[in-house]
Amino acid sequence: MDCIFCKILKKEIPSKTVYEDELCMAFEDINPQTPVHILVIPKKHISTALDMSEADRELIGHLVLVASRIAREKNIAESGYRIVLNTNRDAGQTVFHIHLHLLGGRVMSWPPG
Ligand code: AMP
Ligand code: ZN
Repeated sequence: MDCIFCKILKKEIPSKTVYEDELCMAFEDINPQTPVHILVIPKKHISTALDMSEADRELIGHLVLVASRIAREKNIAESGYRIVLNTNRDAGQTVFHIHLHLLGGRVMSWPPG
């Protein structure tokens, strides 16, 4: 399958990995939007949030826990951070292998653009 994040998981494309376990991997975004911008992805290929099933309930929870653990390690937990899961066109999803964006290290505006 021609999926860039599956290739990162297989180490066919390099990434700056910050965390890995049996279920997921986290690496630095290639085009960071905030001082800390890390992507947390499942090892299982799931195209969008709409393609998750009840069987993925624990997996998505794990991704959120890992993102928050990394936020602590990167010292953005107290100041604040954002976890984003863009889905489909209007949200700007460009890679169709689900990923949580962990964003922090500066003040962010709300609502998003
Ligand atoms: P989204 O718009 O939510 O689909 O986000 C996709 C993200 O993947 C963007 O923030 C890109 O900068 C990031 N990205 C794309 N290719 C790579 C790559 N090879 N390594 C790291 N991040 C990437
Ligand atoms: Zn994939």
